[in-house]
Formats: sequence, structure tokens, C-alpha cells
Amino acid sequence: MQSALKMRLEVDEHTAAVLDGQSRIANWLYNRLLEEANALRQRFRETQDPEVAQVLYTERGLRNRIPALKQEYPFLRTVYSSVLKNAALRLSRAIREYQKGRHGKRTKRAHWPKFRSWKRKWFSLQYDEPWKGYRLEGRTLNLSLGMALNEVTGKRQPVHVSTRLAEPWPDGFEPGMVRQLRIVKEGQLFYAVFTVERPVPARRSVRQVIAIDPNHKNLGYGVGTDGVATEIQNPWFLKILDRRIDEVKSLRDRCKRKSVRVIREDGSEVWLPSRRWRMLNERLDELWRVRREQTKGYLRTVANRLYQEYDAVFVGDYMPHGGGISTGMRRAMNNQSLIGRFKKTLAWVAVRSGKVYGEWDEAGSTRTCHVCEYAVPGGIAPELREWTCPACGARHLRDENAAMNGLAQVLKTVEVPCSGRLGDKLVVRTRRAWRFDGLGVQEMPGAVGGRVRDHAAGRQEIK
Ligand SMILES: [Zn+2]
Repeated sequence: MQSALKMRLEVDEHTAAVLDGQSRIANWLYNRLLEEANALRQRFRETQDPEVAQVLYTERGLRNRIPALKQEYPFLRTVYSSVLKNAALRLSRAIREYQKGRHGKRTKRAHWPKFRSWKRKWFSLQYDEPWKGYRLEGRTLNLSLGMALNEVTGKRQPVHVSTRLAEPWPDGFEPGMVRQLRIVKEGQLFYAVFTVERPVPARRSVRQVIAIDPNHKNLGYGVGTDGVATEIQNPWFLKILDRRIDEVKSLRDRCKRKSVRVIREDGSEVWLPSRRWRMLNERLDELWRVRREQTKGYLRTVANRLYQEYDAVFVGDYMPHGGGISTGMRRAMNNQSLIGRFKKTLAWVAVRSGKVYGEWDEAGSTRTCHVCEYAVPGGIAPELREWTCPACGARHLRDENAAMNGLAQVLKTVEVPCSGRLGDKLVVRTRRAWRFDGLGVQEMPGAVGGRVRDHAAGRQEIK
């Protein structure tokens, strides 16, 4: 199985400038080849010349143009060959995606590729073979660039730069697992993204299962075959960051985007944003980056913790019922994508550790009593956190009842030898809440009906 290992790089100012230069040249090559591709496309339309199609529409057609371009533009030689090759392959891929869309082989139509602005997006440097063009010694990552002219000897010599991994190489990843390396820049920070191929561990048998009901209020509420109900809380930092992002965004949007008029050599004019707009925009990028990083850490920690305790995790196929709810579309969207990412993280951790990840069908799970299976017509109003079944009189916590229905559904498909059930009946014996404090998961007594009833240490026991 393949996964990505993304590590921040410590890069000095000189090396940063060199990497920027490499990225710019790769970007230039992409645009140069696109210029050719546009001309070839026009010619193909007029002539249907198969030789033109050979260059334009095959996997390696554009890549094969690189040697000739190197003759014409010697500065291309200062970039490592596989980085150049991948700039060409990326363009060919984009063209082929467009072709597939035209021939109806893709459901989503891809556009004909556009010229790339290096200033807007840093062109990543791709080394597509294992340890070719890059080398790791301790935490030092050496990168090969192309050839540079030696002023003294008049000959071209290979050039290298060295960077340093900001963290140690993680346990469980052998250097032999690395297949590719991509250098990317986000904001002012450089990262090494290693594509890693790892053997798939054997699946272990399933003993404990948890079904999770994702919702607006928390990341989710789960009930396990161990009789424990877990409320997984959303982290406080997301709220604080979101508020900060809103503030900076509204400040930025109050500035004029078109502020400085620049006349180009050819007489045309462009408008650049004001310094303040650019400064605020950079700050916004930085906040978004922090949000991504912190969210990733949070989701990984929660997923790892779940798989420490359970062999199988099933999450409801959450569909936000937006229907006119005024609680801020964007927040809801954020949470929706948070749950989407949570599912991906769980799936990833599951495969890595030989455990099981799956989803369950949430339709009707909130309004159906898990004790007598009576479905309340019209559903349960969103503000009701607790309700009583009109048919059998059972008292329910809204999310817990939904998760119980999920667990019952899951247990119809998953074989669990000793599930901790009392007889045939699923019961919740303990409630707890998980709160993420930035480092790990803190376990607290469970909340009932949205309030923590028992602040005493440990879990809340249910009689
Ligand atoms: Zn009932």
C-alpha cells in the first residue's frame, strides 16, 4: 500500500533561493511546452497529421521534446532531469485528462491546461525514482540539481544542495520503502513529501467494534461492543482559528485588490494588490496552513486512540441535512470536510495496522428507537438532545441512540466472537468524553444531554 510521508524541511536562505529557481525553471518549461501544445493542437485540427498527435496526445510525446529544448535553452540543464521530465509528464497527463473528458470517459470534464503562474503556485520538484537524485544522511537530505558551468575548467559539473528534516525519520518507515520524493513549498515553508510503499499487515480478527454517529456538535459519538459510549469532542483550537481566519479575511477583503497600476514594456497594464492586501493574504495563508496541520494532528491522534481500543471502527455515512438551517453554511461545510478527512484518516490507520474500517447507513437512525425499533414520524427536532420513545418509554440520548442503531446494523455484517453484549442486548455501561488538548486525548466523564453531570475523576458509571 502506498502512503505519503510529509516532513518539513529546514532550508537556509541561499538554498531556498536555489530551490525557488529550480521551481521557476520547471514552471517555465511547463508553460513553454504548453505554448507548443497549443500550436500543435491548432495544427492537428487543420491537418489531422498523426505525427502531431504523437507528440500532443501520447504519454511521453512532450517529454521527448526536452533534449531539443535543452539545446536551445541551456539554463534547463541546471535542473535535475527527472524534475524536468515530470513537468512535461504533468502537462501530458492534463492534456490526456482533457481528451478523456471529450470522449466521455470521465464524468467530470477536465479543462484544456492553462498557463501556470509561478507566483501564484510554487511548482513542485518531483524525483520519481527511489533515492535517485536525493540522499538522506541522518537528517540531512541532499538534493541533486542539474549541471552548472564551472568558471575555471569551463566544464559542466553536477550541483547539489542540502536541506535538513525538521523532525527525525519516523519509526516504522524504512528508507527502502521510499518510491518517490516531491519537494513542495507552502507559504514560506518547504516540505519533503515521500511516497512510501509499505507491506499490508495481515488482518487481525475482530473482537471489539465501535459504531460512530458523526454530528454537528462533536466530531462524533460512538458506542462500542465493550459497552462504552464515547463523545469525541471537536478541538477548541478550530473555533479559535476559524474566528481568527474570519477576522483576517474581512480585513483583507476591505483592502483594494487592484491598487498599484503597472505598465508593462509592451504598453499593456496590470493591477497589483496593495502591500497591505498582500500582507494580510500571506497571513491568511499561514493561518490556513496552521489549521491544516493542527487538524491533521488531531484526527491522527483520535484515529490512533480508537484503534488502540477497537479492532473495527464504523462511521455513519453523514449527510448534513442543511435544509434552511441558519447556523452558518461555511461552518457546516468545514465540519463536513472534517468528518470526510476523519474517515480518510481512519481508513489509513486501519490498513496500516491490519484493522477494519467501514461505514454504516445513517438513514433513519436518529428517529428510530434502538430498543423497540419504533420510528418517530417526522423525526426528532434538532434541538432535542434527549427524548423518550413514545412506544416503549425508553429514555434516549439523541446521539447515543443513533450510534446504537449503527452498532446493531454493523453487527449484522461483522462477526464478533465475544462482543461484551449482555445476552443479545447491547447496553451502554459507561460514558466518557474525549477532549484533545493539542498533544493527546484526555478522557473525561461523559456528558449527558449536553452537560457534564459528574465532574468526579474517571468515567461516569451508569446504574
Ligand atoms: Zn422504543
